[in-house]
Amino acid sequence: MSRRYMIAGNWKMNNTAAEGVALIKDLKAQCGGCCCQNEKAPEVVVCPTFTTLSAVVAEASGTALKVGAQNIHWAENGAYTGEISGAMLKETGVTHVIIGHSERRQYFGETDETVNKRTKAALKHGLVAIVCIGETLEERASDKTEAVVERQVRAALADVTADDMKNVVLAYEPVWAIGTGMVATDEQAQAVHAFVRNLLKSMFKCPCVAENTRILYGGSMKPGNAAGLLAQPDIDGGLIGGASLKAADFLGIVKCAL
Ligand code: PEP
Repeated sequence: MSRRYMIAGNWKMNNTAAEGVALIKDLKAQCGGCCCQNEKAPEVVVCPTFTTLSAVVAEASGTALKVGAQNIHWAENGAYTGEISGAMLKETGVTHVIIGHSERRQYFGETDETVNKRTKAALKHGLVAIVCIGETLEERASDKTEAVVERQVRAALADVTADDMKNVVLAYEPVWAIGTGMVATDEQAQAVHAFVRNLLKSMFKCPCVAENTRILYGGSMKPGNAAGLLAQPDIDGGLIGGASLKAADFLGIVKCAL
């Protein structure tokens, strides 16, 4: 089975529309072919903030770069101040959406239940859901990593069918490694990824789900540590925060997946 790598940049609350366009121009100028249509190349996605989406979609058009949002609400419309619907996202031209990032769980009250609702909304609107899971340092220290990750995966994927899973990408992001410079070792990351893949085997009758679902690693991935992580058998790409904000760094990671 060969899963295509995905390298996704989570720009978080960075880059105005003008700055986002400038970054896409840099990526196009420096990519040397790695952002081009090529089945063997990794799927490259950038996820700007809402107000930057349309401008980035326009600038990326005609390239293989894909654009994703950082959140989606489950309702079609209504009194949900500060939220955004699937139809609104689709109108911008995005194809992907990050769901359940640990910063949303930590600072904005995201729960396993809302992650599930958002995941189902993304699927309903034909968006690829990049669903984040991962344990805190405390949970790891008390040997709860597998229990936490299992709870998060089962909850996020409640009522998600094997067919839906074609549009789900999981991102294992140990919370202690996000934005801290503390990266999981290749072995630590691989162990959790293998655990998640086995979990998918037990959750879905068709072995194709576990075989085909991409599981990204996220947490201080940089050009200098990406090759080791991406060489692990169950690591299918990266969700990149800080290093996605500079074209050279982001492309340095993309090149490790070629
Ligand atoms: C992230 O926020 O998804 C992330 C992985 O951030 P960083 O790469 O900066 O650790």
